[in-house]
Amino acid sequence: MSAPASNAARRRLPAVDAVLRSEAAAPAIAEFGRSAVVTAVRQALARLRAMPPATADADAVAAIARGELAQAAAPTLGSVFNLTGTVLHTNLGRAPIAETAIDAATSVMRGAVALEFDLDRGRRGERDDHLRGLLCELTGAEDATVVNNNAAAVLLALNTFALNREAVVSRGELIEIGGAFRMPEIMARAGAKLVEVGTTNRTHLKDYAAAIGPATGLVLKVHPSNYRIEGFTTEVPTAKLAALAHDRRVPLAYDLGSGTLVDLAQFGLAHETTVSEALAADADLVTFSGDKLLGGPQAGFIVGRKGLLAEINRNPLKRALRVDKLRLAALAATLRLYRDPDRLRERLPTLRLLTRPLADIEAAARRLAPHVAAALGSAFAVEVVSCGSEIGSGALPVETLPSAAIAVRPMAKRHQGKALEDLAAALRRLPIPAIGRVEQQVLLLDLRCLDDERRFIDNLSALDLAGRRRPA
Ligand SMILES: *Cc1c(COP(=O)(O)O)cnc(C)c1O
Repeated sequence: MSAPASNAARRRLPAVDAVLRSEAAAPAIAEFGRSAVVTAVRQALARLRAMPPATADADAVAAIARGELAQAAAPTLGSVFNLTGTVLHTNLGRAPIAETAIDAATSVMRGAVALEFDLDRGRRGERDDHLRGLLCELTGAEDATVVNNNAAAVLLALNTFALNREAVVSRGELIEIGGAFRMPEIMARAGAKLVEVGTTNRTHLKDYAAAIGPATGLVLKVHPSNYRIEGFTTEVPTAKLAALAHDRRVPLAYDLGSGTLVDLAQFGLAHETTVSEALAADADLVTFSGDKLLGGPQAGFIVGRKGLLAEINRNPLKRALRVDKLRLAALAATLRLYRDPDRLRERLPTLRLLTRPLADIEAAARRLAPHVAAALGSAFAVEVVSCGSEIGSGALPVETLPSAAIAVRPMAKRHQGKALEDLAAALRRLPIPAIGRVEQQVLLLDLRCLDDERRFIDNLSALDLAGRRRPA
């Protein structure tokens, strides 16, 4: 481009000051502050200059700047519709939180709370006091503590009892959980030497007996949450393993993973070992997550024998893994719901979603399918189909829950994969992104976890199939 042309282009654009004085700039300055608007206006002008013929008046430039600022101000951690069919979806934040827990967290956020302060005696108290009683009551444990997540709980237990010592684990339980939680690696970082016993499919009591020696700090049993080894298998029952460990004066820790507090069979789901059952089978320590089947915020619980919990609490790592007042408040409120099992299903969103009646989901799919069809137009075929939801987060991995989905298939046979990808991308660009799953050339929107249908329909009106990709 020649210099005169570029000068001419510049003359067709307003000066920064003129843009800032324009009518359209005033609301932008009120919303985002003057300095952010100045920067955005400069950037908008520079971009316009770079693509002649550049003509825009001051109001137009101000509008561009305001649009950019609004986009940049949108939270990256906004709500999405989880239509994946996986209820406890780790990448979508796992358990939805109960209303009472949301209220509890919100109210402690605003100011000072007696987090580590004993109001009776007027002196320093303990953070764990807010949950200890509840956890002991609900699980039958002698003592309890809470840390950042279950990975932290396992790390802390290993580091407390098996630092520079051996931790004995069955080869059938050396699990990897999504997101780089590999039991052997956690052990190494905890400073424990892993002693593997048995084989992938069979581990006997005598294998443990031979492996436990003077250097053993801990026997660890791990619930293989995200897979099942089926067929010719043997695993040592917890009670037998506990008896052996105690005979050798070594504690037994049981990593339950999901760790449910109630028997899920009463809600029509498969039975999963409860925390009380693990303790009743004489495990000395049980670790489990707060945001899996329990239905609370992210956390890791360690419950069990008083003497062992005291040792855990003396470990300096505990301080690095602790949880804040928000989560403590939400966890306590969530746990309190378990005191009333009769109303748990209706109050705990996780349980409500997991037990949502199929007929209810099907009816929702039939109601919403016409809205989806209308939003997508004639290039797609839309129908209601049966499908299977998953619990997710490794809980009851082989069980699927009968569910219903809106299935969307591109009409054109050519470039079907690309059309599905573009459709999924357009749904992710919605004001409230909708996340489904693609299965055999069909996009499935599983409606199990959708409870606000009105919001979903309103949101669909913003669907833009030809739109550009979300800016980075
Ligand atoms: C999920 C899981 C973990 C990790 O728990 P987080 O709360 O995600 O840190 C550890 N062990 C088992 C068996 C699990 O299922």
